[in-house]
Amino acid sequence: MQDVQEDHLHQTLLDLKEKTSILEVPQVEREKMTSRTMEMVNTYDDNIRNLTWGPVKAADQGSLPAIGEIKEGPTDLDSVLQDFNAHLVNAGLNFGHPTFFAFIPTGGGIYPAALGAFIPAIFSTFSGFHGKNTSIIEMENKLITWVADLFGYPAWHAGNISSSASLSTLTALAVARDSKELKAADFHRCVIYCTEFTHFVVLKGLRAVGLREAILRTVPVDKSFKMTAAGLERQISEDKDAGLLPFLVVATVGTTLTGSVDPVNDIADVCDRHQLWLHVDAAYGGFFALCDEMKQLFAGVERTDSMVVNPHKGMFMPFGVSVLLVKDGRKLQECCSMKQTPLCFKGCQLFSAEHLAPSELSFELSRPYR
Ligand code: PLP
Repeated sequence: MQDVQEDHLHQTLLDLKEKTSILEVPQVEREKMTSRTMEMVNTYDDNIRNLTWGPVKAADQGSLPAIGEIKEGPTDLDSVLQDFNAHLVNAGLNFGHPTFFAFIPTGGGIYPAALGAFIPAIFSTFSGFHGKNTSIIEMENKLITWVADLFGYPAWHAGNISSSASLSTLTALAVARDSKELKAADFHRCVIYCTEFTHFVVLKGLRAVGLREAILRTVPVDKSFKMTAAGLERQISEDKDAGLLPFLVVATVGTTLTGSVDPVNDIADVCDRHQLWLHVDAAYGGFFALCDEMKQLFAGVERTDSMVVNPHKGMFMPFGVSVLLVKDGRKLQECCSMKQTPLCFKGCQLFSAEHLAPSELSFELSRPYR
């Protein structure tokens, strides 16, 4: 009986293999695909290196050829590349252009980084938690530690590399909420302090972590668009007197609209006095800390409870790389880990005692290796 079942299973697997063989591209075709794609990559790379100072133009969208329809059957590579070229490479506004100053500097243009993103796409390495392979995750952890050292975070920090400051910020807000032990019944009395220059991802994150009802205060800024510590202190005191629950300040190091840097050290003093969580959004400005002449702007960043910095902005990495740091690493783990309640997978050894994995420090499980 068992033999019959095994034969049947074997035959089913062979049938499946036959059906899915369409996905196996023959060697000759693969070589052609690789060389055609590399031709395009090289042309694109040359174009980037030969960009000249001058107006940045995006194609008139109306003048672009129609995008090919998605078909059941295979599409030939050349028409896919043509579409890609017309709509993605040549037609978009190039944020990495040397004279693009409309927004902040953003991702792309670093060739080794592009190759670095390509290699994991081939292996599609699972990097959510440790299997038998801890080194792939340790490489990410080393990068996180390098960033933590840059900002003077202590050894007991924890961090995560996610797709965007939007996701990193959302996670930081969830950690702040949990670590201050806020109860849902009190959310309408909780107060968050920011300025009119705080990026909107903070507001989105607050909604996503259930704090839609909380009170958002916009603290006055000085003539250089920086949060005033005195204004913050005054507002917190008033709110406390009114029976509200101030719990979080979001400062920005490099606001998107003006590049202003909130006085983190002075704000940290206020937060210490009132026992508030201090989060810093350094998504844009963070990596200017690598420049000696900018270092003084970062005074006090090491005193914050959490911060976000984006390699896909200041370091021009390809999009999809943002670093979250939480000073007390246990708090990030307590917020995100499923160690205590792995509803399914009970009894499986998914987590390593010595090494923290991304799925214990973020809301993602399957994720690209970053
Ligand atoms: N915070 C600041 C200061 C930003 O400038 C930006 C994006 O421009 C963000 C957050 C959002 O970053 P992301 O696009 O990675 O979600």
